[in-house]
Amino acid sequence: MMARTPIITGNWKMNPGDMASAVQLAADVAAQTKGLEGVEVGIIPPYPFVPPVRDALKGSGITVGAQNAFVEDKGAFTGAVSTTMLLSVGCEYVLCGHSERRTIFKEDNALINSKVLKVLSKNMRPILCIGESKEEYESGLNKEVCAVQLGKNLAGVTAEQMKDVVIAYEPVWAIGTGLVATPEVAQSVHAYIRSWLAGKYGQAVADDVRIQYGGSVTPESVDDLMACPDIDGALVGGASLVADKFARICRFQ
Ligand code: PGA
Repeated sequence: MMARTPIITGNWKMNPGDMASAVQLAADVAAQTKGLEGVEVGIIPPYPFVPPVRDALKGSGITVGAQNAFVEDKGAFTGAVSTTMLLSVGCEYVLCGHSERRTIFKEDNALINSKVLKVLSKNMRPILCIGESKEEYESGLNKEVCAVQLGKNLAGVTAEQMKDVVIAYEPVWAIGTGLVATPEVAQSVHAYIRSWLAGKYGQAVADDVRIQYGGSVTPESVDDLMACPDIDGALVGGASLVADKFARICRFQ
């Protein structure tokens, strides 16, 4: 097994409110994570801020991704942004299947699967977000829900392509609520996800896939989460909007 490089990414969602604030936040994160080694740090800003954030991060080693992409390359698709466009402005990865896309924007598993395949076809990396709702969690269905999402969202993805896929386990009840999953709960789902991947792609492939945890990660919770053997990183929402909090998360111990 190759050692998995931890990956911490900040999902800014529809924040901050203007370009000057976005550039300042990116510059502050770059300054406060300077010299950090052994971890991949990424920022996922809203579309219009991708080029200025990329420029503000130049030389820092921090990578830039996108929060969404459409499945066509160009044409009459008002309001859509293609993977080709994202690639041309320096995005290295794209969030696919974030719970806010699934619920607010009604994205279904088939569309998410098309997006994963499209991102991979451009040699970018999908960060595939999966996770159960509060009701499903309370019914003890978290692993079953993840298995269904993995099966449908990774349909047609080859073992060779899995080296470019990052999975983010984000229990919906933990996103933006302050209710971070305990390390025990998160680790048990991450181990299950890895065993599911091993069943489909073989143990060697599964051992190399990075699985992030997401949902109310803070400087206070990150260390215990990252100490778990199958937690390889964090997808951070709210705390990624405060440079010193995000930098501390990237410096997990
Ligand atoms: P949160 O968001 O850290 O604010 O809970 C995480 C996410 O939605 O990716």
